[in-house]
Amino acid sequence: MPQRKPDPPETGNTISWDPYGRPIVPDNPVIPFIEGDGTGPDIWRAARPVFDTAVRKAYGGKKKILWLELLAGAKAQDALGPDCLLPDETLEALARYGIAIKGPLTTPVGGGFRSLNVTLRQRLDLYACIRPVRYVPGIPAPVRHPERVDLVIFRENTEDVYAGVEWEAESPAAREILEQINARLSSEGKPPLPIESAVGIKPMSRRNTRRLVARAIQYALDHHYDSVTLVHKGNIMKYTEGAFRDWGYETARELFGERTLTETELFEGFGGRMPPGRIVIKDRIADAMFQQLLLRPEEYGVLATPNLNGDYLSDAAAAQVGGLGMAPGANIGDRCAVFEATHGSAPKYAGMDKVNPGSLILSGVEMLRFMGWEEAGDLIVKALQDTIADGIVTYDLARQMENVKEVSCSAFGAAIQSRMR
Ligand code: NAD
Repeated sequence: MPQRKPDPPETGNTISWDPYGRPIVPDNPVIPFIEGDGTGPDIWRAARPVFDTAVRKAYGGKKKILWLELLAGAKAQDALGPDCLLPDETLEALARYGIAIKGPLTTPVGGGFRSLNVTLRQRLDLYACIRPVRYVPGIPAPVRHPERVDLVIFRENTEDVYAGVEWEAESPAAREILEQINARLSSEGKPPLPIESAVGIKPMSRRNTRRLVARAIQYALDHHYDSVTLVHKGNIMKYTEGAFRDWGYETARELFGERTLTETELFEGFGGRMPPGRIVIKDRIADAMFQQLLLRPEEYGVLATPNLNGDYLSDAAAAQVGGLGMAPGANIGDRCAVFEATHGSAPKYAGMDKVNPGSLILSGVEMLRFMGWEEAGDLIVKALQDTIADGIVTYDLARQMENVKEVSCSAFGAAIQSRMR
C-alpha cells in the first residue's frame, strides 16, 4: 500500500531554479508523477516507458529520470481515507521537486474541493496555463490546412472571472452589492443595474498580467517564434481586458525593449521586414482572433490571453488540429511546473487499456523540452508521427480513419518505443 510520505529515490537530485523561473536540471532529477483517476493509470502505464526509452536512447545512460509517485484523487482516498483527496504531502513534494507530470483527476461531486486541478494551481501559484497546439500529420482534422497551425497559448491561470467571486441572483449579498453599485452609478448619472441580477467579479491585475506576458515573451524568444499576440476584449471591457493589452505592451517595452517591437514599429521603422533577433508584439480582439486562427493561422506563434479567452481559444485551437485527445498542457509558476493531459479521466474506459495516451505523452515531451532535454522530446515526437503514419492508432482515431490498425493504449505506447532510433 502506498505510504503517506513519499519515499524519494535514493540516488536522485532536486531541480533548482534561476531568477527568471527557468529550471536548472541535474542529470538524474527526481520527477514526481500522479497517475490520476479513471483512465489515468492506463495512460501512465503506456507513457512512462516511452519517456524512459527516449531519455535512454537520447543520452546513452548519461541522464535518467527517477520517478516518484505522489498520491491524489481516488488513489489517495483509498490509501489514506475519504477526506484525503489531495494530501499536504503531495503538495509539499510538488513544491520541493519543482517539475511533475500528472494524469487527469476526477472532479469530486459535493462539498470540499471545487476541483483538485484548480486547488493545485492555486496552492502552487501555477499562474500560466500553457497549451501548445501543433498538428500531428495523419490525424483527421476539420480544416483543410491544419499543418499551418503552430501555436503556443499562454493563458493567465489565477484571476479574471475564474477567481470565483460570485453571488446568486436575488440573494441578500447580491442585493446589498447591487444597491451600492446603483448608488455609485446614480451619482455618475448612469442607469442602474436590475436589482434582481446575479453578480460576478472579474479581477485583473498588472502584477499577474505582467508575469504571464513576460513568460510568454521569454518562451517566444527561447523557442524562435517571431510574435507574441495579446488577445483581449478591451474594446468592451476597457479597464480589465483593455488593461491586459496595455500592461502586456508595457511588459514588452520595459523588460524586453531590445528584443521586441510593435507592429507599427515593424512597418514604419523596418518596412515590414523583421530585424533578426527580435519578435513582434501585437494585439487582437478576441472574436477577431478566432477568425484569424481559422483564416491565417501561420501569422501567429505565441498567444498571451486572460483566463476566460484562453479557455475558449485553447479548446477551439486544439479542435482545429484534430482534437483534445492529443493536446498537451502544462501549468507553470516561477518555482513549479506541472505537465498534464488536457482531457478528463474518461471513467467509462477505466482499466480497459483502450484510450489514447497521446495527450499525456505529448505533455511529457513538453516537460522534457522545459527541462532542456530537447533531444529526448524530439525522439518521441518523431516516433509518434511515424507510428501514426504507419496506421497504428487507438480506437478514438481508428473510427475516423481508413486503412488503419486499432491497437490498445499500451500497444500504442509500445509502437512508439519501437520506432525510436
Ligand atoms: P473526458 O475528457 O474524461 O471525456 C470526454 C470524452 O472524451 C469522452 O467520450 C471520453 O471517452 C473521451 N476521451 C477522454 N480522454 C480520452 C483519451 N485519452 N482517448 C480517447 N478518448 C478520450 O471529460 P468528462 O467526461 O467531462 O470528465 C470526466 C472527469 O474528468 C470529470 O470529473 C472532470 O471534471 C474531469 N476532468 C479532469 C481534467 C484534468 O484533470 N485536467 C480535465 C477535464 C476533466
